[in-house]
Amino acid sequence: RLINPIDQTRVSQDLSNNVILTSLNDIYNWSRMSSLWPLLYGTSCCFIEVAAMIGSRFDFDRFGLIPRSSPRQADLIITAGTVTMKMAPALVRLYEQMAEPKYVIAMGACTITGGMFSTDSYTTVRGVDKLIPVDAYIPGCPPRPEAIMDAIIKLRKKISAEGFEQRSNFQRNHRYYTVNHE
Ligand code: SF4
Repeated sequence: RLINPIDQTRVSQDLSNNVILTSLNDIYNWSRMSSLWPLLYGTSCCFIEVAAMIGSRFDFDRFGLIPRSSPRQADLIITAGTVTMKMAPALVRLYEQMAEPKYVIAMGACTITGGMFSTDSYTTVRGVDKLIPVDAYIPGCPPRPEAIMDAIIKLRKKISAEGFEQRSNFQRNHRYYTVNHE
């Protein structure tokens, strides 16, 4: 069908706006997903596998992941290991100090459900998602480095699909660290 010249102008204007916005969004997402900086956070045995990931064999730097010691320089936290009740306020505080937009990967049975401490223990948080919002879960005891890589790849896919609106609505309610299991 022939397009009316006025419509055609509007379509081309809309198109040029959208194309620029889309391209900017793609570049922005590509740069963010290619430079995730994880906070070094390991509370028990699961972290041994994260350490293996950092080494030359699995080489997680190739995904642009540069481990950081300061939460203010990090936008990803991999909770590797048991989270105790005493550690809970410190973990929430670390999370709050991280740069937005930020992501969480829960690694291992202990961090996801409390693991072997999920019954008859008053010391362990039974699920880190009671404290902070989790973007990806890696089950296992401990999960292998390949599983961590799989979670990173899935997180990168999630980031690549994010729009401006999702990023601006990023502040989520995560201030509920009353971990009473009764
Ligand atoms: Fe250790 Fe297994 Fe718990 Fe990981 S899930 S912290 S390897 S006991």
